[in-house]
Amino acid sequence: MTNARDPETFYHVGKPGPDDDESCTEFETSDDAQFVDDGVVCPSCRSPLDHLTWVPPYLTELECWNREFTDFVFGFGSLLLSERSLAAIRSSGLIGIGKADSVEVIKVRKHKRFQGNPPSYFLVEVVVSKAAVDLEASGFEHEGNVCLECRTGQILKRWKRVVFESGTWSGEDIFRPIGKRASFFCTRRFRDFCLEHKFTGAVFLPAEKYNHDFYPNEKPKK
Ligand SMILES: [Zn+2]
Repeated sequence: MTNARDPETFYHVGKPGPDDDESCTEFETSDDAQFVDDGVVCPSCRSPLDHLTWVPPYLTELECWNREFTDFVFGFGSLLLSERSLAAIRSSGLIGIGKADSVEVIKVRKHKRFQGNPPSYFLVEVVVSKAAVDLEASGFEHEGNVCLECRTGQILKRWKRVVFESGTWSGEDIFRPIGKRASFFCTRRFRDFCLEHKFTGAVFLPAEKYNHDFYPNEKPKK
């Protein structure tokens, strides 16, 4: 399914699951966290493009599933990076991380015993690319109408893979695409850099293998 005109290989960047051979740390905002609606809507269908924006102070609770604090920490569609991974990515020239704000860890929940304090973490903005999910080639199934502009519909039922429409990717190494703005994708270059530097806490799955079914008991359309 690789597009002949676009030699780039993309990966979904996600949280490790229990079956993955990768440590996982997750985060939650503190109970009294404040969120605002940034008011950014699709010019065509007027749906909000992003979920609510978390505003300072960034007080965070970590949950460690393994015996370490990881470099990548996922939580409700947002991403924290450890200071060392953020600094390395910044100085590498890899594109796609926007602003980064320091967070304060106020609570740590460890499922396994280990020593040490968490590293400094930053809430990072992952930019929105012009890369647009090719809904048909990716096997997206929605219920109700789908907006051609933001490529979202009322209910997303499942998708079989993620393929971007030829020529839409705007060159970022880590990004959120149109049609799947709450997910992170990256280039092979970004993935290789993370593996080389042994950054922990993220799983890089080829975008062509990234699928999900919210209605597994329902018979999918052909
Ligand atoms: Zn729209």
